[in-house]
Amino acid sequence: MAQILEYQHFIDGQWTPGESGERMEIFNPANRELVGTVPRATTGDVDRAMESARKSFASGVWSGKSVEERADILFNAAMLIAAGREHMGYLESLPSGGTIRRTSILDAASAAGSLALAGALAAQALPAVEHTICPPWLAPMHSYWRREPIGVCLGITPWNFPLILAAYKIGPALAMGNSIVVKPASITPFSTLELARILHDAGVPDGVFNVVTGPGSSIGNYMASHPEVDKIGFTGSTEVGKHIAHLAADGVKRVTLELGGKSPLIVLDDADVDVAVNMILFAFLFHSGQVCESGTRLLVPRKMQDEIVERMIAKIKTLTIGDQMQMTTDLGPIASADQLQTIERYVAIGKAEGAQLAYGGRRLTAGELEKGYFFEPTIFINCNNQMTQVREEIFGPVQCVIPYDDVEEALAIANDSPYGLGGGIASTDVARAQRLAGRMRTGSVWINTWHILRPDAPFGGYKESGYGRENCYHALMAYSEVKHICQDLDPNPDKLLFELLGLNQQKGGM
Ligand code: NAD
Repeated sequence: MAQILEYQHFIDGQWTPGESGERMEIFNPANRELVGTVPRATTGDVDRAMESARKSFASGVWSGKSVEERADILFNAAMLIAAGREHMGYLESLPSGGTIRRTSILDAASAAGSLALAGALAAQALPAVEHTICPPWLAPMHSYWRREPIGVCLGITPWNFPLILAAYKIGPALAMGNSIVVKPASITPFSTLELARILHDAGVPDGVFNVVTGPGSSIGNYMASHPEVDKIGFTGSTEVGKHIAHLAADGVKRVTLELGGKSPLIVLDDADVDVAVNMILFAFLFHSGQVCESGTRLLVPRKMQDEIVERMIAKIKTLTIGDQMQMTTDLGPIASADQLQTIERYVAIGKAEGAQLAYGGRRLTAGELEKGYFFEPTIFINCNNQMTQVREEIFGPVQCVIPYDDVEEALAIANDSPYGLGGGIASTDVARAQRLAGRMRTGSVWINTWHILRPDAPFGGYKESGYGRENCYHALMAYSEVKHICQDLDPNPDKLLFELLGLNQQKGGM
């Protein structure tokens, strides 16, 4: 059995035990073995983290550095993540169930890329100061505006991609000169805590980056409404996201919300079926379906449904489901018992509402799988868009196939959702696919591919999938304020402007 990992909070540059001494146990979802413990934060721990972030921000130790100095340190951190990618992958996979083949390659590279690129874009692409051409406006004036940090940011992340989703917040927050406190999900805290070590070693000053561990249910409200917090970057469910938006509104805090999804994938009748089948499987099985923008509403031309589903099933049978820590595993476990129950509940609802089960639908318990939370890839066919399991986010390896008769109907179904996170099109006709992409009401559209979240491209949702964007310069703007500075250049005390208040008239007087 692997060594039990023991982490503390990271506050003010120090590993700090929680004030209550209470710890949360973290388990491997593949076998339910204990793999580590972290502190269960109290409001006192949260106060200390917020105070350290505020103090470091006000001191200018980070916010006062040049954007180039900050970019250099973020680049150092990116290099350290890349150099330790195998260890990072281990820490990420162990509690989340994500395959180590993915986390040690893609997740580590993506997190490193997000930090490095946020620094580089802030230094090279986003003007720190912008000038107007300064035409006289009532009087000769010099007007310019500059980007400034917001202050103390709070990053709250879910359990499915803790490393990448933390980096999406830390990169732009730090690049723009903010201080930040991050709270990872209770069941997957290790990689975020390891990021604290890396950022510290890379040169981020004490207090600028803090991590507090604890359940959202006990400290979440306190953190999100904390008076020291100026900006919240939240990724998680739509339900909790709405709640956070309410809490933030009371303090007029800035908010970015990355929430749930139920993303439609439209297969056009000109699609290459081999490409389409790979795309469909990648879209709904990546990380065993526990991805916010998974393609889980599959719209296929009615006459192609049987062929596509048959080929999907044939390929699913070749996939290796098992221990996420083995490089040969394709699909790991579901992250928790709660999430497994949610998937089972939705599959039961699907059956009850009359969707036809073409494959799967069961928990996997053969051999070693019995120890963990494994669920079979599942395909419902002949669904309609009103069924509960088609409308609501399941967050598991469940595909709902909806046959359609013409493309306008497919588009209407695709857009008929409270969510608007991802969308996709399988087609060999470039122009046709791009025209359709422009009409999909989603924040991302992938054509003949899926899950492409590039650090240099904006990512976020329409409708109840959230607001604001992560990545690219859009994220830098979301983690900064813009200040207009205006200087009147006219030395004449009898300025035209002052006359508006009658200040230049000789009135009474001594
Ligand atoms: P969740 O909403 O239950 O929890 C997310 C985070 O919020 C966790 O850290 C949790 O501890 C915290 N939290 C819970 N209650 C809180 C409160 N009252 N105040 C403050 N924080 C609180 O989500 P989850 O189950 O961890 O993750 C799955 C969800 O995340 C899915 O809905 C998925 O679609 C969504 N997600 C969205 C994106 C995106 O980029 N749009 C990415 C990944 C996951």
